[in-house]
Amino acid sequence: MAVSISYIAETVERVAPKIWAEEWDNVGLLVGDGATRIERLLLTLDPTAEVVEEAVNYGAQMILAHHPIIFRPLKNLRSGNSEAEIPLRLIQNGIAYYAAHTNLDQSDLSSSWALAARLGLQEAEILAPMGEETLVKLAVFVPEAAVEKVRLALVGAGVGQGITEGEHRALYAESFFRSSGEGMFRPLPGSAPAVGAIGELTRVTEVKLESILPERLLARAVRALKKAHPYEEPAYDLVPLRNRGRVRGYGVVGYLAQTHTLAEVWRHVQEVLSGAAGSGLTARPYSLHGLRWAGNPAQKVRKIAIVNGSGGGFVPKALAKGADLLLAGDVDHHRVLEALQGGLAVGDIGHFLSEVPMLKSVADYLKADQAFAEVEIMISAANGCPWNE
Ligand SMILES: [Zn+2]
Repeated sequence: MAVSISYIAETVERVAPKIWAEEWDNVGLLVGDGATRIERLLLTLDPTAEVVEEAVNYGAQMILAHHPIIFRPLKNLRSGNSEAEIPLRLIQNGIAYYAAHTNLDQSDLSSSWALAARLGLQEAEILAPMGEETLVKLAVFVPEAAVEKVRLALVGAGVGQGITEGEHRALYAESFFRSSGEGMFRPLPGSAPAVGAIGELTRVTEVKLESILPERLLARAVRALKKAHPYEEPAYDLVPLRNRGRVRGYGVVGYLAQTHTLAEVWRHVQEVLSGAAGSGLTARPYSLHGLRWAGNPAQKVRKIAIVNGSGGGFVPKALAKGADLLLAGDVDHHRVLEALQGGLAVGDIGHFLSEVPMLKSVADYLKADQAFAEVEIMISAANGCPWNE
């Protein structure tokens, strides 16, 4: 079964809400119609002509990308206008384009987290916090016999993940409070009550199930609740909270299990990035050309900061956190000098290589949803590092 573009968008935005994106960014559905059904989906970092051609040959109806198209208003859609070329080709071939950019960078699916996990970083936290998630209290009143069904539906929608202040990741799942009481209602003419009869005051033993969830999960949670609940009009409360939610932001900083020399750590980073030794970080092995590192090979490294994409601007953050090594893409001359001055080694792992793990994370995340069982998802082979070897 195919899924709609809207469903794909909603699934991505559950992890990376569009509201998290920077103001200058351009995320979401940029070409296409939300109602279109998708059977083949191509994942890419960049929107190049080669990638569009790949999508055409593959028969993909949609490209899900990291980097957006159309940053400035287009003046025309003529052939020969280089800025219009990609949107034009997409439209000509009936291919939709969806971008998750700075919102994805701040999500659990960012490749900074994937790389941190592969390197085994401990006590990992966000390097540059950008905000906290808004929390909502959900309480639903359910007749005893349907409690388990409703509870499982809510768990399936992501409700009940414990939120520990200051922690990035959930440390608990399926967290609910339940209490019992009596619910009552009088079905009016025109209703079709699951319990009771029209015109009669009906009393039912009901359970109140309560939990806290981040607002980004709310739409799907309410839909799951309504679907699983036996009542025509389920009673539920949504209460905005002032409790502090999970932190979101750019990059990760954490500790290696043991101290190693910079040379040893750099060798290990390269192995992981190349996909060698089955690191599982990327869908396929990539060339390591263009990678460079700065710092004394013998210096000790324990605390590592990672920023996918253009990360040179995060040198001050990494210094402030006391990191020994910053792994990032696009670190320029002056930033490297600034880092070295403060005793921070730098591994410039390139913009492409630092972000391509994200595609595998997104693919794995989508495939974990039953609705994608029959959707073919391919990670672009035409998209790669643009620099010559
Ligand atoms: Zn990028």
